[in-house]
Amino acid sequence: AQERYTSIREKPAITTDRQRINLLMNAGLMADLPSLNNSGAEGVGLFRTELQFLVRNQMPKRSELVSLYQRVLEAAGGKRVIFRTLDIGSDKVLPYMKPTDEPNPALGWRAIRVGLDKPGVMRMQLQALIRAANGGPLTVMFPFVAQFEEYRLAREEVAKTIERERRLGHVLPSSLEIGAMLETPSLGFAPLKFFEEVDFLSIGGNDLKQFFFAADRENERVRKRYDTLNVSFLSFIERIVERCDISGTPLSFCGEDAGRPIEAVCLAAMGIRTLSMRPASIGPVKSLLMRVDLGELRKIISDARHRGDQTVRPAVMQYLREL
Ligand code: PEP
Ligand code: MG
Repeated sequence: AQERYTSIREKPAITTDRQRINLLMNAGLMADLPSLNNSGAEGVGLFRTELQFLVRNQMPKRSELVSLYQRVLEAAGGKRVIFRTLDIGSDKVLPYMKPTDEPNPALGWRAIRVGLDKPGVMRMQLQALIRAANGGPLTVMFPFVAQFEEYRLAREEVAKTIERERRLGHVLPSSLEIGAMLETPSLGFAPLKFFEEVDFLSIGGNDLKQFFFAADRENERVRKRYDTLNVSFLSFIERIVERCDISGTPLSFCGEDAGRPIEAVCLAAMGIRTLSMRPASIGPVKSLLMRVDLGELRKIISDARHRGDQTVRPAVMQYLREL
């Protein structure tokens, strides 16, 4: 199998009905960077910046962040890197920050909520990203946006930081894209205006699923209970795709399901055209994508929904077995 993946590494993922799917990788540590070249990834769809904060025992300095982000951009060699701002809180607690005692950390003070309430660290991070871009393009994404006003506020922070950097005489990015992660159901129901405002969206399926089904992603007992191929969840994905199509918003999916071949081809059948996953999954996902007909798959999914199946998995498995 490994050989098969090597042979398709440089090939684009094109389905038998000629649909092109972009395959990106998720990263966060320096150890991930070599994968940029040997996985066949077309870029980094999710760079989890908090991992660098989590492996230290004190807050990194801005200068350290600048050189870190520079190394990431260098390793990417012109491929696009989506830097996600700090997603701390919930399951990711910084050892050097005052712990918050919250009954439900996953629903608590985390990610962009911390970034907006205590903007110091976020500002430092944005400055470091701008400096690391060094006049080249920069792409930033905010995690856990639950209402679109949070995205607007975060965008204002970026604008302020850009202005500050300009005044300090630093070279500004040649282009700047600011996206949001769609990982709370509420954002999927935001008005079309939001979809028009945001530069791009990435579905964080791990969190989105946990909130959609009210099932803790960390809780072994419930986390596998609800299938990604559940008809309600797929309907929701379909709705997001439709909204993004209307507003022309680039959309990707970066949760773990993007790296599971069966889930990945179904997400593609629902209209997702960009998938971001751990590097080792790119080969298996591409290999299956190249063998499926998304139009047929979509019909199978649609029939299963009309029949009233709870999950489309058995019908999809049947199709894949017949390939
Ligand atoms: C997600 O929630 O799907 C996601 C990609 O972010 P994380 O797993 O880091 O929460
Ligand atoms: Mg998440």
